Amino acid sequence: MKIDGACHCGLVSFTAEIDPSRVMICHCTDCQVLSGSPMRAVVAAPIDRFAVRGQPKSYVKVAQSGNRRAQVFCPECGTPLYATAPENPTSVVIRLGCVRQRAQLKPAVQIWQHSAVPWLAGLQGIPATAEQQGFLPPSP
Ligand SMILES: [Zn+2]
Ligand SMILES: [Zn+2]
Repeated sequence: MKIDGACHCGLVSFTAEIDPSRVMICHCTDCQVLSGSPMRAVVAAPIDRFAVRGQPKSYVKVAQSGNRRAQVFCPECGTPLYATAPENPTSVVIRLGCVRQRAQLKPAVQIWQHSAVPWLAGLQGIPATAEQQGFLPPSP
């Protein structure tokens, strides 16, 4: 499936070809912090099926295992875009939040469930409004 996306300010955009059955959610604490969200949804693409426009920046995350992953983001608006190997990448792991077709890409699996925020399973029981009316926290 062909997908495309961009950061919030539009400085960086991309196109990719992905397998829509391989979308996943990661609940690890690094993904929580780096995404600014309680979880991160992603989909991988082979590097030869991925093209980026613009000049993103990257932050290299070093895992306890010593594994290094470049976390790529827009230098202007900070939108997380994808992760990849810092040297000789063979694939990219795209952040679903910046994919235009994200509503169609339902995750097939969740990993690092042991660090998932405990209230996530009850999300459908939390009162919701169609837009912002009725509840006025500072705008996200
Ligand atoms: Zn941007
Ligand atoms: Zn993670």
